[in-house]
Amino acid sequence: MRTEVFAVDGVEPEKDVISRAAGVIRRGGLVAFPTETVYGLGADALSPKAVRRIFEAKGRPVDNPLIVHVGERDAADRLGQVDERSRRLMDLFWPGPLTLVIRAAREVPAEVTGGLATVAVRMPAHPVAIALIKGSGIPIAAPSANRSGRPSPTTAEAVLEDLGGRVEIILDAGPTVVGVESTVLDVTGDLPVLLRPGGVSLEELTRAVGPVLPSPGGIHDAGSPGTRYRHYAPSIPVVLRGPGEEWAKDPRLCRSGVRIAYVGMSPSPVVALIEIRFGTVEGYATGLFSALRELERSGADVILAELPAEEGVGLAVRDRLRRAAGDRDRNS
Ligand code: AMP
Ligand code: MG
Repeated sequence: MRTEVFAVDGVEPEKDVISRAAGVIRRGGLVAFPTETVYGLGADALSPKAVRRIFEAKGRPVDNPLIVHVGERDAADRLGQVDERSRRLMDLFWPGPLTLVIRAAREVPAEVTGGLATVAVRMPAHPVAIALIKGSGIPIAAPSANRSGRPSPTTAEAVLEDLGGRVEIILDAGPTVVGVESTVLDVTGDLPVLLRPGGVSLEELTRAVGPVLPSPGGIHDAGSPGTRYRHYAPSIPVVLRGPGEEWAKDPRLCRSGVRIAYVGMSPSPVVALIEIRFGTVEGYATGLFSALRELERSGADVILAELPAEEGVGLAVRDRLRRAAGDRDRNS
């Protein structure tokens, strides 16, 4: 398959490009498109056949459910049960990087829910995503547009690198703004449960709805099936270091002649082949996945990554770094 890449305006997307991409979605094809978080790999959420193509293109385990993207709040009512608290969260955070896990309506295919009784829904805050969803007239199921296990794509180039030849169209509106994926919140129980930290912070959620529970056993738990799998992993090992934490004892960094690539906010504690630094934790979130892809290409043997503090989007950056390092057991 030939993949066509179309440049599209991120504020006022060109109508002819959107209608072409929307036609692909309606015919059961795959379109990669920008959201404010990362690039998504979209297909008709109500067509089992179209959704199966997402799993094939990504090499994604079939029991890992997808987020359904809607173009307006009311569209969520047709996908599942929206109670008063969910409505409030939608009013406060939609469009935006908050995914709500609600009880699923019967017409949502099992391919989307991974066979669960719940469905994850979100309204993205990106004009191209909204135009595509509205233009196709159907909700769009879309995981991140990377090969399963790889760092999520925040540019069209990263999508092409992973999925070139596997999707019909990539819509290129430049780098995404938030950089980490949406926060996933399960709102089916008495208290909301944080299944994945992301673009909306835990502090913001707590201010809006009161106490939020961590996923049982921590945020790496099976409550959100996707979090079970190795994720965000570059092709070279990633070693983590907390601010001010000892690094020198890690055998992967001490081998003679080892070439280290560094990413973090404070200066590298070692002589690095390449060093990427961010001034703010928001900047770290925005640039994290691109940085991991750049560092793996640098010729280094290992990536040394600094964990930011837990506040705000720092919680999500820590989560992604831990997974990139293959560490699924430590909480937060
Ligand atoms: P991705 O779109 O690749 O960023 O992944 C979507 C995330 O949402 C994964 O971690 C999924 O496990 C999670 N998710 C999607 N649907 C559900 C659901 N019904 N219940 C719990 N987690 C879900
Ligand atoms: Mg993903």
